[in-house]
Amino acid sequence: MTHEHLIGDCIFCKIIRGEIPSLKVAETEKSYCFLDINPISEGHLLVIPKYHGEFFHQIPDDYLADILPLARKAAIANGLEDGQYNLLQNNGPMAHQVVPHVHFHIIPKPNKEEGLTVGWSQLKVSQDQLKETHARIIQKL
Ligand code: 5GP
Ligand code: ZN
Repeated sequence: MTHEHLIGDCIFCKIIRGEIPSLKVAETEKSYCFLDINPISEGHLLVIPKYHGEFFHQIPDDYLADILPLARKAAIANGLEDGQYNLLQNNGPMAHQVVPHVHFHIIPKPNKEEGLTVGWSQLKVSQDQLKETHARIIQKL
């Protein structure tokens, strides 16, 4: 394993090192894709960087650049070019993150009942509020 120094002791780091078994779908030098052990629909996959970081923004660009092409390949192998699905990545316990190692879920949505259900309550905002938000973000880039 060439990335030992970048990998910690969390459950997904152990999966990358093969210390905990997993059903591997595919991997690259920088990413690893496997079946979720508690799927919310059949074919629920996880794609993780071979770099221990709890949050999305902590992952270096080269790992991020590697992970989406692998996710795409796995989604197609999973038959999802003919189906509907969600690509989901949670950051923080309030945002439903349980495992503190960045992971992208690929969740097939075969019907209304199975797969991801989203409660999407939208805010009512004015144009001025949107402009303030826009200014706040771009001044920090
Ligand atoms: P989160 O809620 O953190 O976004 O999702 C964590 C996911 O990891 C869950 O869907 C859970 O089923 C999965 N998971 C947790 N532990 C293991 C494990 O040991 N092996 C596998 N394959 N998946 C796991
Ligand atoms: Zn880890």
